[in-house]
Amino acid sequence: MVRKGILIVISGFSGAGKGTLVKKLMEKYDEYALSISMTTRAPRPGERDGVEYFFTDKEHFEETIRENGLIEYAVYCGNYYGTPREYVENQLEAGKNVILEIEIQGALKIKEQFPESLLIFLTPPSGEELKRRLEGRGTESTEVIAKRLARAVEESEGVEAYDYVVVNDKLEECVEEVHGLVDAARRAPVRQKTFIKEIREELRKFTKGAE
Ligand code: 5GP
Repeated sequence: MVRKGILIVISGFSGAGKGTLVKKLMEKYDEYALSISMTTRAPRPGERDGVEYFFTDKEHFEETIRENGLIEYAVYCGNYYGTPREYVENQLEAGKNVILEIEIQGALKIKEQFPESLLIFLTPPSGEELKRRLEGRGTESTEVIAKRLARAVEESEGVEAYDYVVVNDKLEECVEEVHGLVDAARRAPVRQKTFIKEIREELRKFTKGAE
């Protein structure tokens, strides 16, 4: 089997625990690479440029769009967010499973461009729990939390576009569930096209002259 990497989109309501899940997945397995997005939102306390995001301004972001430097981008709660093209293409080439932790508009654009990508939607067990996690984070104002909850309602309308929904209740279990989905997805014929083509051609060679 060809161990070619796949493109994985992980979306979910703000506060669903995407960041923690992805961090654990990367710590546990070395077959994943995480794409670092570019954004115009201000860094939260403790966030570093080039680690959580590439923080930039509107002008530079728009210039990057014009130069075709992003594979997708979206506006979320008044700020631009986008996925730099070069890193994703290089890592896929190197056989890594590349994770994009992005919101729904971006996810849909990725599915359009890369139909073989795997779209996973992460959710907390309930709406109540989501609200509790957002408030507990303590890094956002009441106004921002309200915006993010309103956005969650909108995003809940689009969940059907994803391949899988995963409930993030117990983190360890959630990590294994996501890893299992990725492992299964890689075995789907649609993601093993090169391997199938090669083995078919090889078999044809053996049978040449015998028909
Ligand atoms: P946050 O401000 O909480 O870090 O991110 C807000 C939302 O933007 C999250 O849903 C996150 O997944 C999404 N996001 C982060 N990077 C990107 C990106 O490159 N493209 C898109 N479309 N969404 C992103």
